[in-house]
Amino acid sequence: MAKRLVIGNWKMNGSLALVDAMKSLPKETGVDVVIVPPAVYLAPMVHASAGEFTVGLQTIGQFSSGAHTGEVAASMASEVGAQWVLVGHSERRDAHGENDEVVAAKAEQGLAAGLSVVICVGESLMEREAGRAEAFVSQQVRAQVASLRTKGTVAIAYEPIWAIGSGVSASPEQAVAMHRVIRQTLADVAPEHAEGIRILYGGSVNAENAEQLFVHPEIDGVLVGGASLDKAQFAAIIRAASSAAA
Ligand code: PEP
Repeated sequence: MAKRLVIGNWKMNGSLALVDAMKSLPKETGVDVVIVPPAVYLAPMVHASAGEFTVGLQTIGQFSSGAHTGEVAASMASEVGAQWVLVGHSERRDAHGENDEVVAAKAEQGLAAGLSVVICVGESLMEREAGRAEAFVSQQVRAQVASLRTKGTVAIAYEPIWAIGSGVSASPEQAVAMHRVIRQTLADVAPEHAEGIRILYGGSVNAENAEQLFVHPEIDGVLVGGASLDKAQFAAIIRAASSAAA
């Protein structure tokens, strides 16, 4: 069984003090831990990790270099020690107008720079209530994965938009059902890679619900927002991933 993957997404939160507080997170067999802080904390976070966990970015420039004020190129992130990048987070899709094409370009940039890429997908409440959640997510996965040209490590994070930051997590049954749909879509679109792609759940994961999620072998990991800002909670989630992996 592949290692479980636990990713903490700080969004635009944190401080150098919080970076420092993440030193000596639990290192558990069978679990890969990644923190994606705001870009300015990348280098200090790599230093604080002391090789015990890995570090990444929450987004990446769509181009390799040039006149793109405010952007960070994948190669730059890699140069200072990033190993992962998230692309297509719903907050980027909604607030920054990133469509599937932009997300695919960012994924390519990340892979070309040797970063492992997490592609985020997930339906809105409206799509779920209309009974279109599975078709919507399957189409997102298909669009993002089919357009990948560069080989490398890819994970999919299923993040229903209604569960992100809302305190209302998808139930383990809802998450498992969607992970199966995603796994099947991957088998259709990229049969040679499908088995190696880890599928994470994200959306109001915390120390309490992580254990129920990790009971299910379909859940290869979690993408954690708010709860990753609290070292004790994040550590508890890592331990939950570890006991399920054992
Ligand atoms: C996220 O940022 O991807 C996320 C899932 O946030 P939260 O855990 O706070 O819902």
